[in-house]
Amino acid sequence: MANSALGHHAVVIGGSIAGLLTARVLTDYFEQVTIIERDRFPLQPQPRRGIPQGTQLHMLLSRGRQIIEDLFPGIEAELIAQGAVAVDMGSDVKWLNPFGWNTRFPSGFTLLSFTRHILDWLIYRRLARVSHLHFLEEAYVTQLISTPDGTSIAGVRFRQSQQNGETQEQTLLADLVVDASGYSSQAPKWLKALGYEMPKETVITAGMGYTGRIYEIPAGFQSDWKAVYLQASPPERTSMAVLFPIENNCWILGFCGTLPHRPSKDEAALLEAIEHLPSPIIYNAIKHAKPSTPIEIYNSPGNRLCHYETLKRQPERFVVLGDAVCSFTPIYAQGMTVAALGVKALEACLAKIARQPSPSLTGLAKTFQKQLAKINAEPWITATTQDAKYPTIQGMTKAHSVPEKLMGWYMNQVIHLTVRDPQTTLSFLQVLHMLKSTTTLFQPRILLQVLKQVLANQLKPHQPKT
Ligand SMILES: Cc1cc2nc3c(=O)[nH]c(=O)nc-3n(C[C@H](O)[C@H](O)[C@H](O)COP(=O)(O)OP(=O)(O)OC[C@H]3O[C@@H](n4cnc5c(N)ncnc54)[C@H](O)[C@@H]3O)c2cc1C
Repeated sequence: MANSALGHHAVVIGGSIAGLLTARVLTDYFEQVTIIERDRFPLQPQPRRGIPQGTQLHMLLSRGRQIIEDLFPGIEAELIAQGAVAVDMGSDVKWLNPFGWNTRFPSGFTLLSFTRHILDWLIYRRLARVSHLHFLEEAYVTQLISTPDGTSIAGVRFRQSQQNGETQEQTLLADLVVDASGYSSQAPKWLKALGYEMPKETVITAGMGYTGRIYEIPAGFQSDWKAVYLQASPPERTSMAVLFPIENNCWILGFCGTLPHRPSKDEAALLEAIEHLPSPIIYNAIKHAKPSTPIEIYNSPGNRLCHYETLKRQPERFVVLGDAVCSFTPIYAQGMTVAALGVKALEACLAKIARQPSPSLTGLAKTFQKQLAKINAEPWITATTQDAKYPTIQGMTKAHSVPEKLMGWYMNQVIHLTVRDPQTTLSFLQVLHMLKSTTTLFQPRILLQVLKQVLANQLKPHQPKT
């Protein structure tokens, strides 16, 4: 049942993961919620134009999975019914890190592996049943509208295709507007057009490119693994590959390289690059496997943070989240989970306001963007400290490279321990999956192990055996 505690109408710009999760939360607080999406939502799990990265390998970290299950109880079971594969991160994954193969043990730490568009479709399907949530499809937001006094955002202008093929520009008023339009968000320009300052931007990129391709698992294929991860070892080796099982008895391949060896659509070049990784395990698996999709390429713009939290004049009744605020180098698989964490923070802010004797959305924007900045900080450091090891890195300033390099060094020590220590591996996985903070890796037991490792001078280049 819709609760009108906070207003009559809320608008969400963008209907990908951040927008869909946001809409779910807003339906608890607004009489009407509208998602404006430039694409038409597919009626089956299919890729769509507005999420070009959707054809690439997408891993949903455990924290993200928990949040989504919390917002949509039973969705994990639906993912499994759609063919998602359960992968024990300790026993089912062969992971070659710069120091050797990971220790294999039954961890009970399970990842569900599936293609990205299944998740979006399942969430969309749930939301399509919510009577006070409306989808404006093939509609493109072109600007924000402010109140006459210029203090608040009062709605949006959008263009929508009509049945006669023409497009019509319309206005939609709202008590709250949420921008979840992803990396290509125009919100900074829209704010500028209304006389606000644009948020400052930090971009740190190693210039990575990604290849995604789905293969049928050959009949009778036998192995002691379900998934393989051949991690990069920058600065020397900057290419990496991942092979994970997905629905319909298929694998999804993810290959990543940096300039000047960014992936191309060339079949022979892809196979050759994978064959020359430090283990031929993925090459041997896919060389005779039948591809069921073309080679999909995505050149990542890297890590980008828009500092909405530092705007001197914050427009009221307008918040920004998901990739529109912070996007990461994809190999750390953080994007969807961080978007979900942002939505949970928004939910907490709204719940707090709703409990007040006279609930008001004034002040929400400032409070929320500051909280979101705190949420983004840790995954941002994780991604940028790892990226800093790539010789192609751009955007790192001297001021923050020293502590980040130290952090990178310590993380390397922890990764080294995962070659032989199941307990450290479990802690590392919990941090990687955002179930625990990075400080977990500084617990006395792990610190001691790192110390012993350093003293034993074990940090030597390792030639992995295949
Ligand atoms: C190669 C690659 C691999 C990745 N792998 C992972 C992974 O393994 N795990 C993970 O968690 N994350 C991964 N990510 C990140 C993940 O894809 C994003 O973090 C996530 O999709 C962010 O969602 P979002 O809703 O903020 O934005 P987006 O997914 O970018 O969606 C934005 C939406 O807004 C719509 N839109 C845009 N402008 C307008 C407008 N003006 N009007 C109306 N609609 C508009 C678009 O059509 C789109 O639907 C990966 C990213 C890349 C590039």
